Amino acid sequence: MNVKPDIKGETSLPGMIDRFGRAITYLRVSVTDRCDFRCVYCMAENMTFLPKKDLLSLEELDRLCSAFVARGVRKLRLTGGEPLVRRDIMVLFRSLARHLKSGALDELTLTTNGSQLSRYAKELADIGVKRVNVSLDTLDEAKFRALTRWGDLKKVMEGIDAAQAAGLHVKLNAVALKDENEHEIPTLLEWAHGRGMDLSLIEVMPLGEVGPERVDQYLPLSLVRARLSERYTLEDIDYRTGGPARYVRVKETGGRLGFITPLTHNFCEGCNRVRVTCTGTIYMCLGQEDSADLRTPLRASESDDLLHAAIDDAIARKPKGHDFVIDRRTRQPAVARHMSMTGG
Ligand code: SAM
Ligand code: SF4
Repeated sequence: MNVKPDIKGETSLPGMIDRFGRAITYLRVSVTDRCDFRCVYCMAENMTFLPKKDLLSLEELDRLCSAFVARGVRKLRLTGGEPLVRRDIMVLFRSLARHLKSGALDELTLTTNGSQLSRYAKELADIGVKRVNVSLDTLDEAKFRALTRWGDLKKVMEGIDAAQAAGLHVKLNAVALKDENEHEIPTLLEWAHGRGMDLSLIEVMPLGEVGPERVDQYLPLSLVRARLSERYTLEDIDYRTGGPARYVRVKETGGRLGFITPLTHNFCEGCNRVRVTCTGTIYMCLGQEDSADLRTPLRASESDDLLHAAIDDAIARKPKGHDFVIDRRTRQPAVARHMSMTGG
């Protein structure tokens, strides 16, 4: 690898550019495959989790993330599984926050189900986390319990309260689910905007066997948008967060509403991200099986040279995009692994 001296005479490593000219500046890391919920679209009720010995230690996760930061990653999101159920996860957050201080990283953030957020919100804010994404599909306690199988809505509400009290910007993510929450979306939207939170809606993706049939869960967001347009004025806006969401402003509430549409509108051409699992496997695309092992090169030597070579090989294989299909004839998941493994 060519190592270029930068202006200050320090060495800087080359950025990651794929075959299609896309610069990879965003890394999502799943720090655990475990979770205290069993959402019906994400996990099966009886999940077999990875043996603990296969997981990267917190020190290894730090080294791996830092290697990506050295290669030009500007935004780092910890996810899972549920990132806040990993033991001592704040040790990792605190350590990674040094890249915010040095200016190497623009943003350190997380996606969480909110169940443990009341415990950690203040500390996250103190170390420099500015925004968190909280997943919440319904405001109805019984429905929440049914959708998450194990979750307690009150805890999530306490988490959101604590996050806002700590000064974190909270964005809500809701998976749009046929029959389940489709008629509640206006309520969710008005509640979120009333509390100053953006809301993004996500189309359910065919990742892993979960029990229920995907075709019974899938609700195209084109339909949701058409229905919302009958009730609200949706104004297209340019706002981007570096992710796949397309935003509108809802005139009546003044808030932002995002649509993440992996099925009805493929967003791959602007993809700037890769994902790493808690075992150190890199997935270059959420919707494809191809992956590369980074744990072996990471553990093989104390220097990061082998790791950077493996990262280069992986980035060179990043595919142009994915094509998800959910219909009655396509009964197999597009990819066998669950979302909780790759990290949403
Ligand atoms: N446990 C955390 C949470 O729920 O926010 C982080 C991990 S979770 C896998 C990340 C996001 O993926 C959540 O917003 C969840 O709703 C979403 N998700 C899970 N399975 C999905 C699927 N099959 N299709 C679309 N989104 C999914
Ligand atoms: Fe857990 Fe998040 Fe998956 Fe729900 S969506 S089961 S909270 S990892």
